[in-house]
Amino acid sequence: MKTGLVLFRNDLRIHDNETLVRAIEFSDFLIPLYVLPKLETHTLIPYPRRSNFRIKFLLESLRDLDDSLKRMGTKLILRTGKIEQIVPELCLEYGVDMVFFANLACTEEVEQEKNIIHILNKIGISYRSTHTSTLIHPSELPFPVEHLPEVFTDFRKMVEKKSPLAVSLPKKGRAPSLPSGLEPESLPLELITLANSVEEHPSRAIDWKGGEQEGIKRLTEYLWLTDCIQTYKETRNQMLGKNYSSKFSAYLSLGCLSARLIYQQIQAYEKERLANESTYWLIFELLWRDYFFFIASKHGRNLFLRSGIQKKITKSSTNKYSDSEKSKVDLGTFEKWRLGETEDEFVNSNMKELLLTGYMSNRGRQNVASFLVHNLELDWRLGAEWFETMLIDYDPASNYGNWNYIAGIGNDPRSRVFNTEKQAKDYDPLGEYRRTWSE
Ligand SMILES: Cc1cc2nc3c(=O)[nH]c(=O)nc-3n(C[C@H](O)[C@H](O)[C@H](O)COP(=O)(O)OP(=O)(O)OC[C@H]3O[C@@H](n4cnc5c(N)ncnc54)[C@H](O)[C@@H]3O)c2cc1C
Repeated sequence: MKTGLVLFRNDLRIHDNETLVRAIEFSDFLIPLYVLPKLETHTLIPYPRRSNFRIKFLLESLRDLDDSLKRMGTKLILRTGKIEQIVPELCLEYGVDMVFFANLACTEEVEQEKNIIHILNKIGISYRSTHTSTLIHPSELPFPVEHLPEVFTDFRKMVEKKSPLAVSLPKKGRAPSLPSGLEPESLPLELITLANSVEEHPSRAIDWKGGEQEGIKRLTEYLWLTDCIQTYKETRNQMLGKNYSSKFSAYLSLGCLSARLIYQQIQAYEKERLANESTYWLIFELLWRDYFFFIASKHGRNLFLRSGIQKKITKSSTNKYSDSEKSKVDLGTFEKWRLGETEDEFVNSNMKELLLTGYMSNRGRQNVASFLVHNLELDWRLGAEWFETMLIDYDPASNYGNWNYIAGIGNDPRSRVFNTEKQAKDYDPLGEYRRTWSE
């Protein structure tokens, strides 16, 4: 009889989850595990790494995953602490033969994987890792990740010739049962209290509710029920409301939706209803997401350093404070930006939306990031850390990748300095957005 352990990471779903499929096929008994993070504070700014918005979305997603697993005849096992400790402890206690997990791209997560593998090797337990995060599987890339083109357009042209792999579904409807004696723990009260303290703002873009079922509901709504995908290319730069963009991001960031399922649905939509520039453009944006994932794999730690993936010294990476002088950071100007109290009304409105709802449009993100870097001349990492705290859809590769670009230390040949006054005129000509977020 074989016992497996499947470690859920940013793949909180049953559909298109090869890690789970393999674990089910291998095991007679199976431990489906999720390790809740300890609440930590950032290195540069004095705020928790996860806002209550993010905690709420995570807990909802975990409850939904647990419901799905229950329908398959098992339960989600929750633990809090360090993955590197908890996985081997459970392995030894329950005689696990094989550990299954998905690979991620960014340094912290890769470091975690290396530590797990090191300990598993030491205690003689096998593991299998899979890749389930992106639309294009790394094995389908026409180049090794180390040779990833540095410019997005080059990457896109090369990968567009490839089709994503098919969506995988578990062959058995039922999952192996838990080893005897293993009981799930309930969600920590501390996290439940933080999640419950979230107040839904009346002007929020969307009711974010975490979980695979909610993600699939949103996918169905945006494509099949409203046909909003037909006008995505024209509406995607707007800033007010639910349907100007897909709002798939939070579901993608925790893996409640797989990029391949979205792709598959868009293809079906194009076949059954309509294919136009807008339907293509959503796939184009998913390729941006893939691109940042692979950029993070390629550049490792540099993505998070002040000099970025280009290791470049620019105005925003010269020495107001260096990596070793974190304690000297003056947060006064940053606080004004964070709270939406700068002299720029357009920036302020966007920062308030983020503070009060945990979401901001792509147009808004570009403008406030540019303002922090190029107008306020602050270290871009302060802004990136605040986004990490607040964004319900926080994804390390997309967040730090986009900030590198805006700060001019990524590899984008175009200028990323935004004239916020002109942007406000172009994208909020009647001032409706600014009025919504001015108190
Ligand atoms: C400074 C900055 C920080 C950002 N941080 C994040 C982040 O932490 N997490 C995140 O998911 N996105 C991030 N983005 C990208 C983008 O703003 C969001 O993906 C988008 O606003 C989410 O809303 P949506 O799902 O409705 O997007 P849509 O416009 O409907 O796009 C569909 C999907 O394509 C992907 N996508 C679109 N634009 C980008 C992009 N520029 N980079 C990477 N993927 C993209 C996302 O997965 C998104 O869900 C950031 C952008 C900037 C400028």
